[in-house]
Amino acid sequence: MSPPAARRAIVLDRDGTMIVDHGYLDDPGRIALLPGALAGLKAWVARGNRLIIVSNQSGIGRGMLTRELVDRINGRLLEILARDGVRIDGVYYCPHAPGEGCDCRKPAPRLVLEAARRFGFDPGHTVVIGDKSSDVELGQNLGGVSMLLSADGKTSDGLPAHPDFVVATLEQAARITARLEDEGAPRAQKA
Ligand SMILES: [Mg+2]
Ligand SMILES: [Zn+2]
Repeated sequence: MSPPAARRAIVLDRDGTMIVDHGYLDDPGRIALLPGALAGLKAWVARGNRLIIVSNQSGIGRGMLTRELVDRINGRLLEILARDGVRIDGVYYCPHAPGEGCDCRKPAPRLVLEAARRFGFDPGHTVVIGDKSSDVELGQNLGGVSMLLSADGKTSDGLPAHPDFVVATLEQAARITARLEDEGAPRAQKA
C-alpha cells in the first residue's frame, strides 16, 4: 500500500530523537527508545506516512565505529520497531567525519534526495525531526517542515536554530503532522 499523496514523508534523526543518544553508540544491546517514540511512529504508520531515518554517523569517519557495526545497530533497531508493527521504509547515514568535506552529512540534503528518488516523494513535502541544529537546517534546506525535538527549546549541540516547531516527543510531532495534513496548511504554523 502506498501512502496517500497528501501524506508527508517523515525524515527522522536516530540518536537523541528516536533512541537515547549515548554518543557513538557501539552496542545494539544499549538501544533504548525515547519516551513517546513508539507511539509517534505508530501514529505515522497508521496514517500512511513514509518513515525514513537519516543519521550522521561520524564515529565511522573518526575510527570509533565500523559500517558493519552501525548496520548491525540499525538492523536491531528495525527489529525492535517491527515487533510493534512499525516498518521503517529506509535507513540512510553519512559515515564521514565533519572535516572530510563530503556532501551527505546533514544538513546537506543528499541522502534525503536519494530516498525521495527511490520512494517517489517530494523532498519539500517532508517533516524533518531531530535534536540538533543540523537537523533543523536539513528541513529548511529541503523546504519541508522542521521540528526540533527538545525539552527546553534548545538544540542538543548548543547551536542556534529556528525550527517551525519544537516538540518534546515524537508522539507530539506525529500529532502536529496530522494537523498540518488535515488542515492542508500551506505553511507551518507555530505550535
Ligand atoms: Mg541526533
Ligand atoms: Zn558524508
